[in-house]
Amino acid sequence: MDDAIGHAEAMLGLDGFRVLDVDRKPAEMTVTIETTVDFAGCPTCGVRAEAQDRLRVDIRDLPCFGRTVRLVWLKRRWRCVDADCPARTWTEGSEHVAPRAVLTLRAGAEATRQVGELAMPVAVVARELAVCWWTVMNAVVLHGTPLVDDPKRVGKVKALGIDETSFLSANRERSTLYATGMVDLTRRKIIDMVEGNAASDLRRWCAAQDPAWLEDIRVVATDLAESYRAGTAPHLDHAIRVADPFHVVRVANRCVDRVRRRVQNETLGHRGRKHDPLYRIRKLLLKGTERLDQRGHDRLLLGLRLGDPHDELLGAWLAKESVRDVYLTDDPKDAAVLLNKAIAGCRSDDVEEIRSLGDTLHRWRKEILNHHRTGASNGPTEGQNFCVKQVKRAGRGFTSFEHYRLRVLLHAGGVTWPQRPSPPRIRTRSPQLNA
Ligand SMILES: [Zn+2]
Repeated sequence: MDDAIGHAEAMLGLDGFRVLDVDRKPAEMTVTIETTVDFAGCPTCGVRAEAQDRLRVDIRDLPCFGRTVRLVWLKRRWRCVDADCPARTWTEGSEHVAPRAVLTLRAGAEATRQVGELAMPVAVVARELAVCWWTVMNAVVLHGTPLVDDPKRVGKVKALGIDETSFLSANRERSTLYATGMVDLTRRKIIDMVEGNAASDLRRWCAAQDPAWLEDIRVVATDLAESYRAGTAPHLDHAIRVADPFHVVRVANRCVDRVRRRVQNETLGHRGRKHDPLYRIRKLLLKGTERLDQRGHDRLLLGLRLGDPHDELLGAWLAKESVRDVYLTDDPKDAAVLLNKAIAGCRSDDVEEIRSLGDTLHRWRKEILNHHRTGASNGPTEGQNFCVKQVKRAGRGFTSFEHYRLRVLLHAGGVTWPQRPSPPRIRTRSPQLNA
């Protein structure tokens, strides 16, 4: 046997195939193969079949030593010798290649792992396999869907996080489309993605879940969106609702931003520019005061002195800090005192944006304090959001929500990836000892 062919066969590791020829080009390796089957019975009548002819079938396999691999399978066509048998002719199949597939199953599984587990762009994986985008995406759907649908993937959930992400940003034809991530806060994984962020979208999702599964959920953590509060009713009314700290602080941060932009505009007549005093401190304003060093404090103070003539932004900054104060303590009673103080302070302020912040806090008072009662937080959700962003970056503008959902869940949904088949054993000669 040609040594190269022998090696290629050992490397190929596809049971039931033998290598007929190997053609190595700088960028591509072509391996001609056939099955090791020598005879076959007719699947209809069982009579021993006769060889009819061969079909040449091109399949892509995993790259090898940096080269793309093309398998040329000389596929046998059999003929039933019984003239009365309806079977007539048929072509052989293989457990390694689905009928009419462009990729071997192992190449499809590996492509799914790269797109899912590693969040690689489909186009990159497609280029590596020398196939088109759709071939890879179809493989991801074929191999990935059972992994995502696996009932063992989700299991019981005690604390559910609900979090919004943008799915498709706005352009001339559409406004921003949103998706809602459902997160198991205990196990820190995304259990599902829901298209949309309206109460009705969430309610539809809840209605589709097993009531017994919903019953196990003790805590629901969301941001301060009325749609999420409304959308989880009535299915999750038994759970304790928590407004998670990250989002509570974000609402306060947004208030600071809003006041900064308005004051900026009113004093200088234009949007923030590089050298404007308020624009220069826009990030410092959002930092927790305990995280500012002396220099940061000085810069913050200077910016406010220069750019905030009526202390409106200073007021928003203090309001924001009073909201953050709520999380200085783990004690529910102390937290209630601090939150009441923040709400009262905001609602009595002269600045409209700050009063509105006070109203929002007031509406979510119970849920905000539930954080201290349950210790639940959406911290993990935000971590998961980072994963979602990674998938989005890899996808560069999804157009299909189903593909988006599949890829997010493959990446961050706690999928159990099948074990890679062990590589074929390559026998080597032991070195000869020349004594
Ligand atoms: Zn037959």
